[in-house]
Amino acid sequence: MDVDAGASPGTPLGRIGESLLAARLRAMLSWPASRDRSVPQVDPVQRLIRTHRGVHPDADVNLLRRSYSVAERAHRDQKRKSGEPYITHPLEVAHILAVLGMDTVTLAAALLHDTVEDTDYTLPQLRADFGAEVALLVNGVTKFDKAHFAQAEAETIRKMIVSAGKDIRVLVIKIADRLHNMETLDARSPASRARIASATREVLVPLCDRLGIQALKGPFEDVVLRYVDPEAYQLIDEMVTRERPHWNEYVERFVGAGNDALKREKLDGHLIPRPRHYYTIWKDTKAAGSPSPINLPRVVVILDGDEADCYAALGVMHQRWLPIPGRFKDYIAAPKNNLYRSLHTTVLGPDDQMVEVLIRTDQMHKAVEYGVVAPYRYPVRPPRFGKKVPAAAPKQDQMAWLRRALELEAAAPDAVQFVQTLRCDLAEQQIQVFGHGTRMLLPAGATPVDVAYELSFRIGDRCVAATVNGVLTPLNAELTDGDVVDILVSRDKNHPGPRPEWLDFVKSPNARLRLSRRFSEPEAPAGTVSDRLQIGRAAIGLALRRRDRALSSEQRLVDLAQELGYPDLDTLLIAIAEHRVRADVIVDQLIASVDASAGQRGIPVQPQQSPTESSSLTG
Ligand code: MN
Repeated sequence: MDVDAGASPGTPLGRIGESLLAARLRAMLSWPASRDRSVPQVDPVQRLIRTHRGVHPDADVNLLRRSYSVAERAHRDQKRKSGEPYITHPLEVAHILAVLGMDTVTLAAALLHDTVEDTDYTLPQLRADFGAEVALLVNGVTKFDKAHFAQAEAETIRKMIVSAGKDIRVLVIKIADRLHNMETLDARSPASRARIASATREVLVPLCDRLGIQALKGPFEDVVLRYVDPEAYQLIDEMVTRERPHWNEYVERFVGAGNDALKREKLDGHLIPRPRHYYTIWKDTKAAGSPSPINLPRVVVILDGDEADCYAALGVMHQRWLPIPGRFKDYIAAPKNNLYRSLHTTVLGPDDQMVEVLIRTDQMHKAVEYGVVAPYRYPVRPPRFGKKVPAAAPKQDQMAWLRRALELEAAAPDAVQFVQTLRCDLAEQQIQVFGHGTRMLLPAGATPVDVAYELSFRIGDRCVAATVNGVLTPLNAELTDGDVVDILVSRDKNHPGPRPEWLDFVKSPNARLRLSRRFSEPEAPAGTVSDRLQIGRAAIGLALRRRDRALSSEQRLVDLAQELGYPDLDTLLIAIAEHRVRADVIVDQLIASVDASAGQRGIPVQPQQSPTESSSLTG
């Protein structure tokens, strides 16, 4: 990977080739020595503004200066674990997002993203200072407080996904936040490094993948690999560095020959080198069981045309160089579940060297690189006056995964189950199976029961047997890629329904959710966060009515929540809904404080701590 390419300060980002973006991010993130430190410290926002203006020349930089100064003041006395002033963190997060090409509001929210969580600056204040849009983004990435939520981490993930349903930029900020935190993990203990790295690999990296943001996913995976398997990382790094001059020269030759071949066939397109990320090299090496890293040269053919041109270009490549059998994949006819579209093939290049070739149109390339954030990087401008209009919302089909996640959220009885389900859905390995006339993408290891629930809850609940490729197969058999599955459904009126032991082997979110709802104990707190807010509110109202009182304004309750040490009213209401605090007790305190109408303090209510917290996402 050409790490130096991104490091030259002052290069207008808008003009940097697409393929260099990941390199630039990597250069920013990997080694402190390669970071751009050439900008004098007098104006720390300058570098951010320059990067941002490189993509969006008419951006409102006043908003950035204002956000920076508020964040800087709020974090002034705080230091990171590394000893650096805290403000360096939000500043770097904003810079990652600027390189990605996000809009000004996102960068402002990134600068402020830790203020509400870690300083005295409150959400209402932030809303008053910066408006509802910035407040929504900051609130979306603000963690729930462990002291007040039994399942703070699961609740936080759930809140993040729900906020992302309102505004996808919440997730993009969260990903950039984690990306930068991963870089500074060195200051942590080895145990917490490994924990954070693997939690990141489990949820945030796949999220990046599902949202199609390749530009972030590559660097993200590489940083994760550094902690998950430091020795392999070292080995790959040494090899790639050693071989780089040779590969660069080789790939250049290949690109030249490929361009000539396209031109001869009158195809409008060009080849670019596409070095593989360390993580991809690591994965391939592991899969092949090879003792030394496997690093194939890779190029992308980008066509100024449509799908048909891609297939034509494939023909050109296969005529020029011999294709390796069994290596062709058509992700244009059958896109991956994150809507990734390209043709993949491997050919025998000059010197009998295998070369991976990816083929896509220019439009597919942008979508691959930026996924759901593409509309922010390439906002629609009216042709005449060049005045910017707000970025178009991401295309609906790109949001399909998120919609699905939100459906799971609505169906899950509580945050912990939602996050478990989400993890299933984010499983890295996926297989494609066919059944009852449809194509399904399921987590690796999925069974006929998963297929049945994918078809419908009814079919799942009543399935009794299955055939796989025409052969009768047990319901718990692991399916493999390309299997054709037929589900046999009971017609018996007295069919007993699903079996609890299915929970031991099902892999898909739909099946897990349906079965765990059916067989889990019924005392789980009801519904979504907003359901519980309503329940909490109703409980307060009821308790007040029993005492013949009413609340003249909610401010009293807000004050009381703060007095009792809750970060906000919502947290208190949820604690009530989850029976961790009694509404009666709260109302009595409320009445006492109203009646005394002075600063008489109630008895602090200690929320219960739960020992059941599992792996962490929100570090
Ligand atoms: Mn942060």
